[in-house]
Amino acid sequence: MAKAVYPGSFDPVTLGHLDIAIRAAKIFDEVVVAVYDAPPKRLLFDTDERMRMWEECVRGEKNISVVSYKGLTVDLAHQMGASVLVRGLRALSDFEYELEMALTNKRMASDIEAVFLMSSNEYLYLSSSRIRELWGLGRSVQGMVPDHVDLALRQKLAGVT
Ligand code: ADP
Repeated sequence: MAKAVYPGSFDPVTLGHLDIAIRAAKIFDEVVVAVYDAPPKRLLFDTDERMRMWEECVRGEKNISVVSYKGLTVDLAHQMGASVLVRGLRALSDFEYELEMALTNKRMASDIEAVFLMSSNEYLYLSSSRIRELWGLGRSVQGMVPDHVDLALRQKLAGVT
């Protein structure tokens, strides 16, 4: 049974991220979305918020679960009994970083394989950092993130959360 971990900061989760998770869930028996528990000061959403947003995204997806983690991603994969790390690839810009990360992970854990899914055409331009930038300028990101994430962004801007 092939189990995959899909790790990231997901600050916040976009439709591009969700597309990768749903497609991965068609390839692997189980997909664990792993939200990196990074120090909150450089993030817009804390770990709980980022997890809850993902949970809402994959409610009803039977083979996708959500966890948070600290430390090395390959250690999490071992703990979860996963043999694959899934990552999404956009244009050339992602390649160098992902190659370096994949080679480092391979050195840390030679039994874990990295599998890359190409971004779908409509999400090629999407990134969490661009979403945060648009949000900071008060612009709408509707259609780039799931509706509940859009709502959370608008509430944060209004100081509700
Ligand atoms: P990081 O793990 O570097 O903090 P993110 O949390 O933004 O990055 O993204 C997690 C993973 O999803 C990465 O593999 C990233 O390349 C991929 N990804 C981000 N945006 C998209 C997108 N629009 N389409 C496909 N994959 C994406």
